[in-house]
Amino acid sequence: MQTFDFDLFVIGGGSGGVRAARMAGQRGAKVAVAEVADMGGTCVNVGCIPKKLYSYAAHYAESFEESHGFGWEGPAPTFNWATLKANRAKEITRLNGIYVNLLKGAGVAIITGWATLVDAHTVQVDGKNYTAKYILIATGGKATVPAVTGSEHAVTSDGVFDLNPFPKRLLVVGGGYIACEFASIFNGLGATVTQIHRGEKLLAGFDDEVRGFIAAEMAKSGVQLKFKTEAASINKTPDGLHVETLGGETLIVDTVLYATGRKPNTHRLNLSAAGVDVTTKDAIKVNDSYQTSVPNIYAVGDVTDRVQLTPVALGEAMVVVDQLFGPAAGKPLRSMSYDYIPTAVFTHPNIGTVGFSEEAARKEFGKVTVYRSDFKALKHTVSGSQERTLMKLIVDDATDRVVGLHMVGADAGEVVQGFAVAMKAGATKAVFDSTIGIHPTAAEEFVTMRDAVPPRLLASRSALPPEGAAAPAV
Ligand code: FAD
Ligand code: NDP
Repeated sequence: MQTFDFDLFVIGGGSGGVRAARMAGQRGAKVAVAEVADMGGTCVNVGCIPKKLYSYAAHYAESFEESHGFGWEGPAPTFNWATLKANRAKEITRLNGIYVNLLKGAGVAIITGWATLVDAHTVQVDGKNYTAKYILIATGGKATVPAVTGSEHAVTSDGVFDLNPFPKRLLVVGGGYIACEFASIFNGLGATVTQIHRGEKLLAGFDDEVRGFIAAEMAKSGVQLKFKTEAASINKTPDGLHVETLGGETLIVDTVLYATGRKPNTHRLNLSAAGVDVTTKDAIKVNDSYQTSVPNIYAVGDVTDRVQLTPVALGEAMVVVDQLFGPAAGKPLRSMSYDYIPTAVFTHPNIGTVGFSEEAARKEFGKVTVYRSDFKALKHTVSGSQERTLMKLIVDDATDRVVGLHMVGADAGEVVQGFAVAMKAGATKAVFDSTIGIHPTAAEEFVTMRDAVPPRLLASRSALPPEGAAAPAV
């Protein structure tokens, strides 16, 4: 029988890779993980965690502003970018250490360097070969920047956390998660932010009304949104970066942030040496068991270009480990479902969503009933803020099941997580109606919406509210 150095060799110490390596180690497997950068991957180092810390920082601006209505007085505090950067870096270093310790605690060998495949059972790192019965590719993805003259003067999300100096004038290109989040964050931190997007609405794939509502809220808070335009060229001059748009406008800014999507990290992995197939978009092809075209090589997370979210990479990793080394003691084999994955966009205010958009639900289920509420949160009746909250439920008429739940408002991510459990469990509108609310919260609105949006109003709502204005209350 062939013997190997390891039972499992994981390439990439990000969300999926660390979880798989740690779980496999805890099951008694002999495991190695190769990581070229700091342990923790995108999420920990240049993604979810530092982004959320910066989002917290940005929220203070509005909190200070709003506190006056509640009696707080005195001059507005000033913001120190260097302090935020230093404290973020310190926290990320702490997390890197925790990840390393978790792996060591599970007996995982950590190999630092760039890994490439030699054959179906061999990985090379820094000229040294390691053999393994199974290989897991969890190399994530990286930001893409379109070919625009002068794009070398722009940064991506990787570079945005350590900008020096603070960008007083920021141009964000893109209309997806990253663009919207960083436009909100830097706007909150005090930059003058312009966001340009090639499409007509932000956040493709989200509920149409949510897309219009968040654009209106972001515009209200100061982000200058420009749709149906792109950067044609970027020129560096002594007074800043001159960005010519396709519409012929010149924007002068300190920093241009490209947030125009990410692509899988499959280059320089030597996948062909092992026979691992990729899609036309360079993502690793996997079957329902995360097996690649080579049966003993698996892939999870962003490198497979399915759902680019940390909890999804974690879930996929645990399924692979269960398959290869058996489930944890006393637990059933895990499986992964891509239905009703909740997600949040940490804009200001947040978006939280789970299930079908109104548009997708109509296509999927035919007849649906929509419940919506658009209101000023209790806090803002005194704070002076003009921010509004949107909540929406989409119900499948045939089953009464709530198939879509959407919120734009404070802490929407926190609110929607719990509702996602109910929706995974198939909760009907009747179950929502029979649930007692927690008063006074914004979230209670989800269990107190009784009146469906009349079809007449549904038609009028299909037109998005004008940018810069909140959606009309119905
Ligand atoms: P990664 O975490 O990217 O890990 C891949 C690792 O592999 C990296 O550490 C890389 O250095 C290493 N690597 C690559 N190639 C090699 C090689 N050949 N040899 C050795 N090492 C290699 N998701 C959320 O759920 N919530 C959020 O709020 C959120 N915010 C985000 C914000 C930003 C700015 C970005 C960019 C992403 C965000 N995401 C968020 C997405 C999330 O970060 C990813 O979905 C997640 O990190 C994917 O995990 P992964 O294991 O597939 O890859
Ligand atoms: P997204 O796919 O979300 O958005 C990319 C944006 O860039 C879209 O608006 C797209 O427009 C636009 N775009 C693409 N190509 C071009 C181009 N050539 N010129 C101009 N605009 C272009 O990617 P992100 O980079 O924002 O984020 C990547 C993924 O990371 C997300 O999809 C998400 O899964 C994950 N993420 C999750 C977060 C969270 O959970 N809170 C936060 C951040 C990231 P169009 O719509 O027209 O294609």
